[in-house]
Amino acid sequence: MMSAIVNTSGNFKLKEWLQKTPKSLQKEFYRYYLFLSYMYIFAFMGHLIFLFPIYTMLDNRTPFRSGIACAISDALCFIMIRNGLVNASILLFICTIGAHTILGIVIFGVTSSLPMFFLTLLGLVFFTPWKITSKISFAALLTAAAIGLTCYGLYHPPITELTPEQLVFWNSGNILANSLALGYGLYYFTYIVDVSEQKLRYQAEHDLLTGVLNRNAIVKVLVSSIARSQNNHVAAIMGDIDHFKRINDTYGHLAGDDVLKGVTRMLGESLREGDALGRFGGEEFIMVLPGCQMNAAIRVAERIRSMLNDTPIQTCEGYIGVTMSFGVAVMQQGRDNDGEALIKRADQALYRAKNGGRNRVETG
Ligand code: GH3
Ligand code: MG
Ligand code: MG
Repeated sequence: MMSAIVNTSGNFKLKEWLQKTPKSLQKEFYRYYLFLSYMYIFAFMGHLIFLFPIYTMLDNRTPFRSGIACAISDALCFIMIRNGLVNASILLFICTIGAHTILGIVIFGVTSSLPMFFLTLLGLVFFTPWKITSKISFAALLTAAAIGLTCYGLYHPPITELTPEQLVFWNSGNILANSLALGYGLYYFTYIVDVSEQKLRYQAEHDLLTGVLNRNAIVKVLVSSIARSQNNHVAAIMGDIDHFKRINDTYGHLAGDDVLKGVTRMLGESLREGDALGRFGGEEFIMVLPGCQMNAAIRVAERIRSMLNDTPIQTCEGYIGVTMSFGVAVMQQGRDNDGEALIKRADQALYRAKNGGRNRVETG
């Protein structure tokens, strides 16, 4: 395992090491795994940092020993989660923080903001991979513990009386620790939600094989380009690979897929900023060129046609020569101002290009 995280120059890469997952971990648990791993490290460092004021400010040595026990337990939680024991590590963490809080309330009383730790644990329970029923049960248990301990503290005087200055210090420290833990949880999971949303949106709008816009998305781009164009031109170029079925039959579907990817790359590279490319169907593509007049659109289509004609595409079965036929249509005021009519004319032009012998550009 270590060899993979020590780079070629022999340097140890901490971030890569932290992000390495145990083999037994299911993929959907990865986000919880990362969140909790970092949480245990924060808790470990927090407990270590607080050992110093605990030792110097308080005569009672129990909190100091409890702090050491907590740090050891945090380290244990980290080791457990690194070895795939996600749930066991969460339980140990809850027990440790719970016990530390109960002990703190018995010794210092409830005025030290210690019951807050139960509410923070309640929040953290929702950042675990548990079922929602388990989360709610644990949340109820932790709320009951917070209420119970607060009531207990109100009726039982603390073992160690803190001075007002010490109370200010410990209250601030405890509130800070809780805010950091909860803030980190909220930040992490809103970030995860944002990333997932972006991924879903990307998948909904893009073709899986070629990575360009899918049919729905490119039609939407065309419609919005027309809406934004006012009196300007919008060109649509429809392209279809010639005899693609033959390519599939001769070289197999995987090579066919490589041809589709190669063609997509060439089409994309031929367009300007602001133009859009989409896969309209199997081996049929559509390009939307806002602000482009007929002559310019024909030049673009002709340039792509001749480039494809001259450049064999690299596939898993070697280089394969392909040609493509194109139909070009430009939006005309008063004639067609919706995307569907423009696509229809480009499609009819493409049909004529096919009938006219393929590997050519026709206009509609
Ligand atoms: P034409 O010159 O008239 O366009 O002939 P063609 O063979 O290209 O047209 P046809 O519509 O008969 O065949 C299209 C083929 O594209 C049939 C289908 O199996 C293939 N195809 C569609 N989608 C994919 C894909 O994602 N991958 C691969 N490898 N083939 C695909
Ligand atoms: Mg075809
Ligand atoms: Mg076709």
